[in-house]
Amino acid sequence: MRLFSLSVIAIACLSAGSLYTVDAVANDAKTLAQASTDLPTPMPVAATQTVTDKTPAETPATAPQDVSPAANTQATEPAANIATDATTAPEAQPAPIPERANTFVNDAILPPSITWHGASESLMLSVDNQWATPFEQSSGIESPSYEATIAWLDTLAGETDKLQKVSLGKSPQGRDIWMYIASSEGINESARLKQNTKPTVLVQAGIHAGEIDRKDAGMMLLRDIIKGDKSALLDKTNLLFVPMFSVDAHERSGEFNRVNQRGPVNMGWRTTANNLNLNRDYAKADTLEMQHMLRAINVWQPDLYIDVHVTDGIDYQYDVTFGYNLAQGLSPASYRWLENSYRPAVEAALTEQGHIPGPLIFAVDNADITKGISLWNPSPRFSNGYGDARHLPTILIENHSLKPFKQRVLGTYVMLEQTLKTVGEQATKLKSAIQEDKYRASPLITLTWKSAPLAKGWDFKGIDYQLEKSPISGTEVVRWNGQPKLYPNLPVLAETVPDIKVTRPSAYYIPAQWTQVIDRLNIHGIRMTRLTKPTELKLQQYKLSNPVFNTKDFEGHQTVKAESELTKVSTTLPAGTIKISTDQPLGDLAVLLLEPQSPDSLLQWGFFNPIFTRTEYIEDYAVEPLAAKMLKDDPKLQAEFDKALTNAEFAADPEARLRWFYERSPYYDNRYLKYPVYRSR
Ligand SMILES: [Zn+2]
Repeated sequence: MRLFSLSVIAIACLSAGSLYTVDAVANDAKTLAQASTDLPTPMPVAATQTVTDKTPAETPATAPQDVSPAANTQATEPAANIATDATTAPEAQPAPIPERANTFVNDAILPPSITWHGASESLMLSVDNQWATPFEQSSGIESPSYEATIAWLDTLAGETDKLQKVSLGKSPQGRDIWMYIASSEGINESARLKQNTKPTVLVQAGIHAGEIDRKDAGMMLLRDIIKGDKSALLDKTNLLFVPMFSVDAHERSGEFNRVNQRGPVNMGWRTTANNLNLNRDYAKADTLEMQHMLRAINVWQPDLYIDVHVTDGIDYQYDVTFGYNLAQGLSPASYRWLENSYRPAVEAALTEQGHIPGPLIFAVDNADITKGISLWNPSPRFSNGYGDARHLPTILIENHSLKPFKQRVLGTYVMLEQTLKTVGEQATKLKSAIQEDKYRASPLITLTWKSAPLAKGWDFKGIDYQLEKSPISGTEVVRWNGQPKLYPNLPVLAETVPDIKVTRPSAYYIPAQWTQVIDRLNIHGIRMTRLTKPTELKLQQYKLSNPVFNTKDFEGHQTVKAESELTKVSTTLPAGTIKISTDQPLGDLAVLLLEPQSPDSLLQWGFFNPIFTRTEYIEDYAVEPLAAKMLKDDPKLQAEFDKALTNAEFAADPEARLRWFYERSPYYDNRYLKYPVYRSR
């Protein structure tokens, strides 16, 4: 392919560190076009073109891609028209106007935007093609509304029986969350999908509705499968496609919703209509949207789950970054497949198509890249942490927010297409990795992690920057200058060292009154049974102390942390008590949701907060004679009390002295500060 040749040239140019041009924040697109047209060799960046007054945390910059005047193609033209001859000298053809730097309302306040061209542009149909998506019709800058998206997909589905549609449920505002099922057999129900032995990929767009790249990429790819020459993608794989997950937020649409992100023109909002972040909701499953999605995962049983975002942070060259659980997590076999089979195939495809793929990027310090990158081991509130806990290989894609919308959508298309190919080719390997993880039943489960530097650093394809004193903030700010810069052997701090670990119990027992907790565990698909008669058991129970409540709301919860101590108890559990065996595919998830020291335990989310309230008291006039009687009845108690009195603070506190007796009396609330979920060893 001609464009492929061009992009290779461009990447080579980039690696030489000198060939690129920047259209920066100039408002005069004509001037820029002129510049890139007239220059037979690439134009270096003028650092003064950079205009940003944002903190680096808020405002990453645009990364240079295969940006060379040699890639003199019309960005907005359809595939058939991208007929640039790679063998033609750049100056032989006038370069058309590259993407304008004032395409989006926020271009003027963002760091330099570098014109991008890549072979993947040939995936776009011409604006007037009957089957051009709204994204293509807008030359790659717009994304359609909820109604327009569904109408377009329904029209496509009307052309074939290979594309079926089901509703996962209604949003709080009453919108259906639609899922399209693409299969060569025209499957429209989960039972039939399970009979078909192909692996199934579940792709969700717009968990954060403004980060919608996957929707437009998915529409294009489905079009090419149904109307184009890519139907073979369904020969070995089924595709489940949720074009908009956070549907209500998708319709809170506007130009000013994502200040750090280059398009689309109108984008949805990050959080749901209830202001909740769906990518913090996997474990606690508060929202209707998430409850529908978790049920869909249980019903449709995908083999690979893809969650697509757009990230800001620092500036770098990578446009499509993606990651998953770490090797140390709960699904090591899936990790090995993702790392050793999936990643190389997808990165090769992206590179071939003119993109720069990379791992997920989180800088240790957004104002000082030399401090390195942190590698994160996500807890199950996040999609990728949830996938690790339930042994569903899950990929978090984070496209870079300062790359223009078109570039991001096309990168996402390439990634999805290659995903379907790789999953189809490696179905057996993928499925056996999942089975291995599901039945691994690790005897020790890590609840929290500590970071440690990796032995080998990362040769990081970054962007150069200066620190400048800002008269606005009065301090130094990062000014990304758009120039690619390799940071060799950058330190990587990875959450690979177990911190808090627990032994795996054989089962948990939850009293029936904790209905909301039981309900959420049910939504996750965790199998449970009910005791049919009172049952006497020797169990373990956590005693909690020193609870610390968050003073601010977090995702609609008052979260809490408490110290815990495991005690042995003999108790008779009433009929109706819920038993959850950990000997099940979702056993690890149950542990993470039920252990008090787990950051995403339902206890820490506040589902058990009433247990921290004392509800019964004793009057002083009653505790005095009670204490006297207790001392008389138990001579050993006097010795213990005398010992306690050696603590001067205690001895000087009349309330504490009375409470000391009350707590040792049979009148005291024996459930106070006891975690009501029992463990059996
Ligand atoms: Zn996001």
